[in-house]
Amino acid sequence: MNSLLTSLLSHSKTIALLKAAESLLFWDQDTYMPKEAVEARSEQIQLINSLIHKEETSDSFKDALESLINLKTGEILSEDLTTDEISNLKNWRRDFLISTKIPDSFVKEESELTTKALHAWSDARKKKDFSLFAPYLKKIVALNQKKAELLGYKEHPYDALLDLHEPDMTTKEVDVIFSKLSKKLIPLLKKIQEKQATNNSFMNHEFPIDKQKKSSLAILESLKLDSSFLRLDTSTHPFSISLHPTDCRITTRYDVKDPMSNISSTLHEAGHAMYEHDLDPTTFGSPLSQSASYGIHESQSRFWETCIGKSHAFCEYFTPILKKIFPDELNDLSADSLYDAINTVTPSFIRVEADEVTYCLHIILRFEIEKALIDGSLLVDDLPAVWNAKMQEYLGITPPTDDLGVLQDVHWSMGAIGYFPTYALGNIYAGQLFTRFKKEHPEWENEAKNGNFSTIQNWLKDQIHIHGRRFTPKELIENASKQELSEELYLEYLSEKYLPN
Ligand code: ZN
Repeated sequence: MNSLLTSLLSHSKTIALLKAAESLLFWDQDTYMPKEAVEARSEQIQLINSLIHKEETSDSFKDALESLINLKTGEILSEDLTTDEISNLKNWRRDFLISTKIPDSFVKEESELTTKALHAWSDARKKKDFSLFAPYLKKIVALNQKKAELLGYKEHPYDALLDLHEPDMTTKEVDVIFSKLSKKLIPLLKKIQEKQATNNSFMNHEFPIDKQKKSSLAILESLKLDSSFLRLDTSTHPFSISLHPTDCRITTRYDVKDPMSNISSTLHEAGHAMYEHDLDPTTFGSPLSQSASYGIHESQSRFWETCIGKSHAFCEYFTPILKKIFPDELNDLSADSLYDAINTVTPSFIRVEADEVTYCLHIILRFEIEKALIDGSLLVDDLPAVWNAKMQEYLGITPPTDDLGVLQDVHWSMGAIGYFPTYALGNIYAGQLFTRFKKEHPEWENEAKNGNFSTIQNWLKDQIHIHGRRFTPKELIENASKQELSEELYLEYLSEKYLPN
């Protein structure tokens, strides 16, 4: 192999190893770390972050890179390269340009601000008082506006922030998809609510946590996710982190009154973990073995959590398992009653508790607000009123307090603007993938009823996971689903499921 490529691969691997070490620090922070270690931990993370930034922007990396690809135009300067090598070069160029456009001083300023903002947000949420967080949010918006200018954009400053999370996706494209989606989701929601009659009385019990742990382990076992490469722990907010394809870590949380919330979150995080586990360990560190985007990642978790986990076939498989784990509590449970209960559609204030139908409306609201904050057409002080008005318009409910409204998400306090749309895109991608998958594999339901999920796992692996960053998110979805990206298949999936004839 070309010695320049060898050098780039080695740099890329060093960056990935440092990022894995950083991920381990984050994982530990959210699972086992003693409380008093907060400051020491943030110093450790900052150090690793600066080492990563140094590697990403180093002269030797730049020299090797610009010998093979024109950094300005993206033109490949060497012949005899394989398509995989060209794909690596394009991704390295993208990453290098992003890292070098953001100066060290900016990274430091952002990290100092967000550390303080996170505390302020947490305090404001506790006290249900947005005005305590507003001064920090103003600074965060200003910093993101600056970031957009540093990164550059063609049409809208939000493009620059969105592209960091969903490469190659523009504000305009998201705007088109989201406005069509909301126009159809709102009447769909009304129709479903008129028809729906649900009886959740079987949930009126306490479900001991030690038993609930058995149900999450049963899910991992059904998916053949064993402890040789995956850990399951507990955290306040469930998450998934991967240090290497052979070291995936997920968390869940347990609510004694709701055994289904643990099952949903285990399936969700397992979906993320399966993606990471299927990435090629032999090319570890290179873009070939990195996930394609936040949106694609979310499509994998939502595919398992909703398309599969909330299907009738899954309920048929899982009901007897649940009854065995909870013989007293769920004595009368049937697959039908489980299916109805986990597919209840109710507008609610909190995004992370939202059902499949209302979920994207929560995201569309956030996208519209972020876009307006970044282009200056909305001021932070007006945010709570705008939030509540949009909640009323989209979901027909108004949060009584800010902790149930504008203060509920951690993202803005962490400086993340441009992230939210990937959650809805993940659902849209999942709906489009699921439609295609069902067409190619109508046998999946019978297999799932019997606890065999390998057809689904292999399909997602072949269509999405093994490609790493060879394709853009849009290309990946279009190649896998054999259709152009649109919100239509997702809407069809929802209509067929919730309004069957
Ligand atoms: Zn997720």
